[in-house]
Formats: sequence, C-alpha cells, structure tokens
Amino acid sequence: MARLTVEPIDVLVIGGGITGVSIARDAAMRGLRTALVEQSDLGYGTSSRSSRLIHGGLRYLEQGDLHLVFEASRERRVLLGIAPHLVRPLPFMFPVHQGDRLPLWKVAAGVWLYQLLSLFRNVRRPRILGKRALLRMEPMLRERGLVGGAMYYDAQCDDARLVVATARSAMAHGSLVANYVAVTALEQAGGKVTGARVLDRLSGETGLVLAKVVVNATGPWCDHIRRLEDANAPPLLRTTKGAHVLVPRQRVGHRAAITLTSPIDGRVMFVLPWGAFSYIGTTDTDTPEEPDEVRASPEDVTYLLRSANACFPNAHLSEDDVLGSWAGLRTLVAPPKDLPASEVSREHLIVAGPGGLLSIVGGKLTTCRLMAAQMVDRVIRELRARDGRPRPAAAPTEREPLPGGETKDWATFRHTGLELGLSGDTVEHLLSHYGTESAAIYNLIREDRALREALHHEHPAIEAEVVYVTRRELACRVEDVMVRRVHLYYETRHHGLAAAPRVAELMGRELGWEPERVTAEAEEYRKFCSES
Ligand code: FAD
Repeated sequence: MARLTVEPIDVLVIGGGITGVSIARDAAMRGLRTALVEQSDLGYGTSSRSSRLIHGGLRYLEQGDLHLVFEASRERRVLLGIAPHLVRPLPFMFPVHQGDRLPLWKVAAGVWLYQLLSLFRNVRRPRILGKRALLRMEPMLRERGLVGGAMYYDAQCDDARLVVATARSAMAHGSLVANYVAVTALEQAGGKVTGARVLDRLSGETGLVLAKVVVNATGPWCDHIRRLEDANAPPLLRTTKGAHVLVPRQRVGHRAAITLTSPIDGRVMFVLPWGAFSYIGTTDTDTPEEPDEVRASPEDVTYLLRSANACFPNAHLSEDDVLGSWAGLRTLVAPPKDLPASEVSREHLIVAGPGGLLSIVGGKLTTCRLMAAQMVDRVIRELRARDGRPRPAAAPTEREPLPGGETKDWATFRHTGLELGLSGDTVEHLLSHYGTESAAIYNLIREDRALREALHHEHPAIEAEVVYVTRRELACRVEDVMVRRVHLYYETRHHGLAAAPRVAELMGRELGWEPERVTAEAEEYRKFCSES
C-alpha cells in the first residue's frame, strides 16, 4: 500500500484476473509505471473457474468465425512456447453417434479446417477414425449408435497458476501488484478519472492511487466499476453461468479429452482429464447470481452428469462421485449501440467512459496476451496525447517465457528432485506447477529437510510449496494456497481440510502471524469450504 500510494503512476489496472495481469505485464514491459490491484486473490474470479483449455475454439467454426479461430490458434502456439510447464498439448476425441446434432462429415471437415487455421502448426495432424479404431482408443465410449469420430489436438492449462505466473512476470518488469486491495471509488478532477481510492482488505488501511490512466479489467464486475465513474452507465455485459464438476477419472475410464454434444440440448461440451481426475463442463445458463456468489447448482450437476453418462454408459456417475465443482460467469459483450464498430469484436471490447476510464470485457484465457497488447496500445495513445512521450516499442510478450517456463527439458529437474528423496509423483507435481522454479523449492528443502513432508495423504503437494507460494506468489490466506496455488481444495476429498492447520502454521511463520491468527486463518478456510 505504501508504494502504491506514494507517487503518481502511468497506469492503474483494476482486477487481477488473466486480463488484468496480462495488461500489467505488457504495460510494465513497455516501460510504463504500472500498478495492479486485485480485491481478493490473484485469479479469484473467472480466471480460476474456466475449462482450463488453451484452444483455437473448434466450436467457433460452426459460427463461421474463422478469424477468431486463426488468432486463438496462434495464441495457443505462443502460450505452449512461453509457459510449457503450465500449458500442455492435449489429444481430443470427438465421438459421433447416430442422431447427434453434428454428423461425422461435419466433425471431420471441422477438425481439418481447424488444422488449416493453425497453418498446420498444431501439435499433430487430426485423424478421422472409424468405430472400431475409436473404440480401441476409448473402449468405455457408448458403442450403441457409434458411427466414428475425430481425433484432434488442443492444449490444457492450469488457469489459476497462469494468472500467478503472468503477474510475477509483470512484477519482474517493475509493475506493482497488490492482492486483497479493492478499488472502492474513482478519483475524478475536472470530469477526468485521475486515480482510485483503495482499501487493503486485510489491514483495513485505505489510500489514494493517482494514475494518468485507469484500466478496468474486472471481468464480470466490470459494470460495477463503470458505475463508480458514471452512476448511469448503461450495462455492457450480459452474463451466463458455466459450471464444471470434478469426478475420479477411473469412474469414467476415458484416456484422451472427450468432446461431445450433450444429448440433452446438443451443446458441445467436454470431459477432460486432470491427473487422477476428470472434470466435465460446461453448462451455459442465464443466472441472476452475482460474480461473488456464483456456484454450480444441483441442476447444473445433474445436466453435466447426465450428459457424460450418455457418452460413457458404464460410468453411472451420480452426485456421490462429485469431488468438487466450480462455476464462473461468461461475460458476453452487449455493447451500447453508439459504440464505434472498430472497437467491437465478437469476443472482447474496449470502451472508454466519459471520464476516460478504459474498460475491457470479454475474451478468453487463450487470447489474453492479444487483448492486453490492444489495451496497452490504447493506454499509450492516451498518455501520448497528454504528455507527448515517444511511443515505446511493442512488448516482447510472445517471446519472453513466463517464470518457470524457461525450458521444456525437465530431465535435470526430475533427477534433482528424486535425489532429494521426493517421490516421482511429487516431482511431476512440482514441475507442472512451478516449472524451472522447482529449483527454488528444492533449495528450501535443502535448508530444511522437514519441508519434504506431504501436506495431505491423498496428494503429492509438499510443505515447501506453502513457504514458496507465501514468499514468492503473494499467497495471503489459507484459501489462496489450497484453492489457487496448490489445488488441494479440488484434488482431495473434503477439500484437503485436514491440511489447513499445517498450511496456516507454515504461512504464519512466513507472515509473522500470532498463534491466534494461525488458528483463525485455518478456521476461515473451514468456513469457506462449508459454504462452497
Ligand atoms: P476475472 O478473472 O473474473 O477477473 C476479474 C478480477 O477483478 C477478479 O479477480 C475480481 O476479484 C477483480 N475485481 C473485481 N472488482 C474489483 C475491485 N473493485 N477492485 C479490485 N479488483 C476487483 N477461456 C479460455 O481460453 N479457455 C477456456 O477453457 C475457458 N473456459 C471458460 C469456462 C467458463 C465457465 C467461463 C465462464 C469462461 C471460460 N473462459 C475460457 C474464458 C476465460 O475464463 C475468461 O475470459 C477470463 O478468465 C476472464 O478474465 P478476466 O481477468 O477478464 O476476469
């Protein structure tokens, strides 16, 4: 807070989802004095509740949106290159049954067009498979009515960790990043937005951040912030809910990711592998829920399980199999009629308010880097109009690896982890979460061997990670560690509650918490789990 409020900055970004952190990264790389504030934890909003795909968007082909698919396919390649530890190629099977909304010829044409739009630079070429070949690869698929299918490639990512890695890159380039700091009001002078009043939600401290340009990257909260500038601002957004459920993978028995059309309403949806788990998503329903309250409802769960059961008839998935669920709000852009057409994309939108507040809505995880570049171009136009500064060169965001993504060759890292006495599962877990930065975790273990201990008997995460994410990744609360850094919340029964007291203790050592605070933080996590 002290550093945020001490002197005016060029650009203040509100919102620490993937859009906000990507903007902060790009702006800082171009030499702008940048700060970002997030009201909760980094990635707390939509960006940790996605389908975790980095994809060209096969389904956009149905709408004829070839440009979108072309752009997103290119971005998939960029992200596979700059964050290979977090973004990984994933084979998909798209089975087709008699009577499905999409016949096999259309699916086949679609995957080839998809390949074409990636300029044949996708991981591998697609394949069209007959019934027998498909069943050999995915024996648990419904055989009755199966016509054949297609195999194609996309990528999967750890969405929450992608946000953290991007934020850390922004910080490495000089951006200030503060989580648990909320914007409560916009400062205005002469009809222009000149900064924001902020509240540190952990300490209760308040302050004023002065900024030449303020960017609103708050996703589904966007209209709330726009109304701080102009109480009568017409809404920009229409939101729909997308929910996912997580089940044990062996209950479904699939090998690749599965794309299917739901027999309930013909929507394209996915059954996706996640280590020993599978998640099924997503729904698409109108909801009156506020972004802070959005949850998977019993109806969402039923829809997802019924759709998956129709494709995998031996799975017999029921509510009892659901280990966890998450839901987020899609922000569908509903622009005011008088907006210039050049500013409108079907996917995302940048809008300037009457006082100069720049809002960005829509988009995808996949295209975050492009959206950020467009927004920073716009910010630079504003800054140049004010002070005539020279135009900085474009930021090398597509070339510079995110922290942890400096190599794809993990052999030495694997070897070192095993030498330290870590299990193979733990080493793989560390590499897929921290990439090359696993080396820092190994160093913690060298200093204190006790940090090799597992956090939870059902999970490969270890105690050293808690120390690391508290020191280096801005984790402030037990929930931050359990949900978005290490994922015990989703990947163990009972949300890893048994580990919460130890996590609080380790965080307390780092953050100087008194024993009462340690107990209270663990208790807060228990409450969070019982309410979610
Ligand atoms: P958010 O992640 O919601 O971030 C906004 C942030 O602003 C929040 O963290 C919030 O706490 C903060 N904030 C709000 N108010 C304030 C305030 N007053 N002060 C400070 N901070 C504030 N895209 C893909 O590419 N692949 C996918 O597989 C995919 N799947 C999806 C599945 C679902 C169900 C949904 C809903 C979306 C999916 N998307 C996917 C899209 C993608 O997840 C979103 O486009 C992206 O996460 C939006 O990020 P954001 O930063 O704009 O918003």
